[in-house]
Amino acid sequence: QPKIIGILKTPNDPRVCLLPKEVKRLTKELKYIVHFEPGLGDSLQIEDNQYIEAGASCVSREDIFKTSDLITSVNHTFNGETLKQGSHFIGIFNPLFHSSKLNIYKEHAASVYSLDLLPRTTLAQSMDVLSSMASLSGYRAVIKSADFFNGIFPMFTTAAGTLTPAKVLILGAGVAGLQAIATARRLGAVVEAFDVRTSAGEEVRSLGATFVEVEGHTESASAGGYAVEQTEEYKQKQKELIHQHILSANVVISTANIPGRKAPLLIETRSVEAMQAGSVIIDLAAEQGGNCELSKNNQVINHKGVTILGNSNLAAEISNAASRLLSNNYFSFLKYMDKANKENDPLLTPSQVLSKGEWTHPHFK
Ligand code: NAD
Repeated sequence: QPKIIGILKTPNDPRVCLLPKEVKRLTKELKYIVHFEPGLGDSLQIEDNQYIEAGASCVSREDIFKTSDLITSVNHTFNGETLKQGSHFIGIFNPLFHSSKLNIYKEHAASVYSLDLLPRTTLAQSMDVLSSMASLSGYRAVIKSADFFNGIFPMFTTAAGTLTPAKVLILGAGVAGLQAIATARRLGAVVEAFDVRTSAGEEVRSLGATFVEVEGHTESASAGGYAVEQTEEYKQKQKELIHQHILSANVVISTANIPGRKAPLLIETRSVEAMQAGSVIIDLAAEQGGNCELSKNNQVINHKGVTILGNSNLAAEISNAASRLLSNNYFSFLKYMDKANKENDPLLTPSQVLSKGEWTHPHFK
């Protein structure tokens, strides 16, 4: 009996998790039956017919919940609709941070896989939604900052005089930070970057930026390449050093996160007030509480002449590119899932939050 995969739109998010190209592979290669919600690709100018040509059927939202074995979407879409028994949800739910949003799935005895919980290993690389979205967000943050900044990024030498290049400060040199460095460098800015992980230094320097380090940091080999919470002494030293470097920055892009925790506070109000008027801060950690004391999630504010944009989902603003990467990520996961042994699997076990209404992830036990 072939399994039914349902594809749903996510309210308030123009990204689509599976595009016709990957739907065709699901129907032809993996022999799935695919149901999609009417108007699924509207935000990307993809017509229902293109999904139908790829082998899928257009089914009402309500019926997708009722008939699907696997329900896919970018983010939360479930409001307690009637489900097929044993149905699984696959999405990017950020469950460690928004744990209460998972209660409704538990109440309806559903199983949930959240792709943001996949380990950052070579085996999971093709499904790594965090990397693909962070990379686009880092790129978009620079483009966005260039728009808000009333100056230019590269050095300009003209008959009317020379304009010096913009100074860009990047906080957190993970996937988003490194892409932001590369983009800002391509535009000709002078770039500095901070990270708590010393190992990030080499990557920062190889992109032509200066790595700024605080002495006395903690780096844990057991954190799987992620940052860990730092000591109070370190945090104070870091805020001081950031304060010094921010004085000359025209643009700051902050991306620092610690999985499952509130984002570290790196930019104090006094540092924002010490910046030159006309400067720009883009806080990609805004959803996790923000790296800047003043940033507000999904808002642009102006504080004494400094523009502060808080947005952790800038990838959604380039929804075409984002959907293309997501569609590959989701397809890879579904293909893997099709073959995998569900017990103690190196990718399925860590990314599963609920199994038939029971918590499986250690965070919830
Ligand atoms: P993330 O989004 O969790 O955090 C972003 C960056 O912020 C990280 O580099 C982190 O070290 C940094 N940070 C945290 N606290 C900070 C602080 N107080 N001050 C300054 N910086 C701070 O990280 P990410 O981008 O998801 O990447 C996490 C790790 O996973 C990296 O080591 C990355 O290279 C690795 N990774 C591996 C793979 C793979 O092997 N397949 C894929 C993607 C990422």
